[in-house]
Amino acid sequence: MDFLPISWRLQGKVALLAGGGEVALRKGRLLHRSGAVVNVAAPNVCDELRDIVVQSGGSCVDRAFASADLDGVALVICATDDRDTNAQIAGLAQQRGLPVNVVDDPSLGDFIFPAIVDRSPVLISISSSGASPVLARKLRAQLESSLPARWGRLADLMARFRQPLKEKLDNIGARRLFWEQTLDSPVVEKVLAGKDSEAEAMLAAAIESADAATLSRGEVYLVGAGPGDPDLLTFRALRLLQKADVVLYDRLVGKGIVDLARRDAELVYVGKARDKHALPQDNINELLVHYAKQGKKVCRLKGGDPFIFGRGGEEIDLIVAEGIDFQVVPGITAASGCASYAGIPLTHRDHAQSVRFVTGHRKDGSVDLDWEHLVSETETVVFYMGLVGLRQICSQLIAHGRAGDTPIALVSRGTTNLQEVITGTLNQLPDDIEGREIHAPTLIIVGSVVSLHPRFGWFKP
Ligand code: SAH
Repeated sequence: MDFLPISWRLQGKVALLAGGGEVALRKGRLLHRSGAVVNVAAPNVCDELRDIVVQSGGSCVDRAFASADLDGVALVICATDDRDTNAQIAGLAQQRGLPVNVVDDPSLGDFIFPAIVDRSPVLISISSSGASPVLARKLRAQLESSLPARWGRLADLMARFRQPLKEKLDNIGARRLFWEQTLDSPVVEKVLAGKDSEAEAMLAAAIESADAATLSRGEVYLVGAGPGDPDLLTFRALRLLQKADVVLYDRLVGKGIVDLARRDAELVYVGKARDKHALPQDNINELLVHYAKQGKKVCRLKGGDPFIFGRGGEEIDLIVAEGIDFQVVPGITAASGCASYAGIPLTHRDHAQSVRFVTGHRKDGSVDLDWEHLVSETETVVFYMGLVGLRQICSQLIAHGRAGDTPIALVSRGTTNLQEVITGTLNQLPDDIEGREIHAPTLIIVGSVVSLHPRFGWFKP
């Protein structure tokens, strides 16, 4: 950083402008807007600048700069059309310890003027540290067009209610949360729509009922992020994700989804791969409680749906025991996502009257299932976490009575642009894929509905 951006209160302070032409005028306007008393040292002063000087309570000496002009001055701006004169004035001012700006020559002075977006009292200043004023102005134009003009009114309104809120809530953290909530509330829309008195009444009522304990309470959002495609997030998932102070996410949640979190949110990876736990489940549970107890809004992002093979139940157990507020947001589970994107309807009147979601992976690593309940010809069976046990799954289904030519599909990285669908039969598939690299995560779908994939498969990654 070559310069420190600060906001300088100039009301009533004397600013000396050396120069009386167009360049000096532009600086004079700015100084006047900030409430400074503007003095001008120049033999010729343009009319508008002379008016500004009078209005600001300053004076024009009507001759070239002399060092006595520096008496009683708080800052100096060198805006004559002569580089040497500017340098000379700057040197004299600096000898007296006065901050100096030399127009168009940042290297000679102490401070520079940024481009400004003025939504007083909200001010945005943009500086390229003198490298490219054009770039700074372009950025300024972009901000100008995207910031509603009434943002300033909103800041004024909030300023007026700062003291009443202080009297109501003495905890600074609670006050910050109150204002954050206010900015997410209809008060903002009212101000932007010009309904200032309604906004004021709403804000007054909100302060009246503000309660420190409720405001500073942490909260946990257990959010289903869907199977991969960020478009499959729900509106609520997105809203809570953008509200969260901390986001804990795991391996199944794609980067495109994590990127939707607030820029200043703390992102914590707690990823789990099969048999490779980045963080043991107990630690994740404790971490959620730890952050929530600091008063933070914690978003626990989980692949698919949190309550389908997602251990969501385990994660909220401790939260409930600790009395922490929480919400659970459902997500599109892998079975729904993969089936849709692979063109395999999980039920279909001609093929399957029911569907069953089964985990192919037990805590101890075995595949030990109620096989006799998984062999109905009119039922679709979806295996989560089943790839490792695929051969066993196929042979057990056949051994318990499912036909060897029953269609089966593997959907790898479903709904993402790396999705791959491999189909076959219970008899053949394990041999077909022997030695072939199949990328996790993979879902297995068994049943006659799989035969529809060639016709209904629409997603071309
Ligand atoms: N709660 C998640 C499931 C977690 S278990 C949900 O509701 O989807 C993890 C298993 O889900 C993986 O082993 C795999 O079988 C399946 N899975 C999750 N996302 C998947 C994807 N994009 N493609 C294929 N399978 C997926």
